[in-house]
Amino acid sequence: MTPFQPGFSGSLFDRADALRGDAAALATLLQHPQARLLRLQGFDPALTAEGALLWELLAGQSLPETGLAALILLGLQDGVPHFVPLQQHSAEAPLYRSPRTMEILSLLGPQDMATYGTARSLIDWHGRHRFCGKCGGATLAHRAGWGRRCTVCESEHFPRVDPVVIMLAEHGDRVLLGRQASWPQGRYSALAGFLEPGETVEEAVARELFEEAGVRASRVRYVTSQAWPFPAQLMLACTAEVQDAALTIATDELEDALWFTRAEVRAALAGDPDAKFLPPPAYAVAHSLLQHWVHSNSRSIDV
Ligand SMILES: [Zn+2]
Repeated sequence: MTPFQPGFSGSLFDRADALRGDAAALATLLQHPQARLLRLQGFDPALTAEGALLWELLAGQSLPETGLAALILLGLQDGVPHFVPLQQHSAEAPLYRSPRTMEILSLLGPQDMATYGTARSLIDWHGRHRFCGKCGGATLAHRAGWGRRCTVCESEHFPRVDPVVIMLAEHGDRVLLGRQASWPQGRYSALAGFLEPGETVEEAVARELFEEAGVRASRVRYVTSQAWPFPAQLMLACTAEVQDAALTIATDELEDALWFTRAEVRAALAGDPDAKFLPPPAYAVAHSLLQHWVHSNSRSIDV
């Protein structure tokens, strides 16, 4: 495992799965005098002056009569229940991250980021699953916000997670990074793509590297993972070896792709103004992956 903790990980909450379907226990949690409610501004978290998540006492908040149906139980911390409002919004609502969201993420500590990521993914999922995928009937939240049930056929639906492979191809002492035209100027990052049905992680890594950069990968190795809440990806970070470094770039997906040396990656991660590229932000797993690569491959040189 990497010694670098990826963003959106490290929550201290007890997710309290056993309580989610227990109506009596949930009613007790709602009455807990210290129960907390996460304050949101739209889909972004409200922050304290210190840059932490803003929690308010649940007691005294004006909640809809539906009570628990309007809340998601994020979990317990030291026995204290923490909730987030289950926002009702239309399918047209802007669900994806804005520049303001990115700015806030750069301020949050890792545990707050993990808590917000969980809340954000769940709120988004509820917003996009208001109707049953089997019969088209309306669905309602249940299990303290960790599921929805169809009001017509009674099917249960659960929050989904979509796996994505994100990888560094290695060729000798160099690593392959690409950039999309929409990214900030100079930014390069690890290539990535969604797994398809029927694929292993290793097969998806090899396919994506060939599709996007025209390189044939072998020896795929898992490094770490990260929950990415825009809206619900599980990033599976890997490295892979490449024998032939010649690139054929898929220009419909990438604006550019280049091989970078370890020294060049190290300079970029250190924020060197003369660095050859701008690295991904610290909360992105691509950043953790680059940190891992720089350190795991440098021991023989550093000593
Ligand atoms: Zn249904």
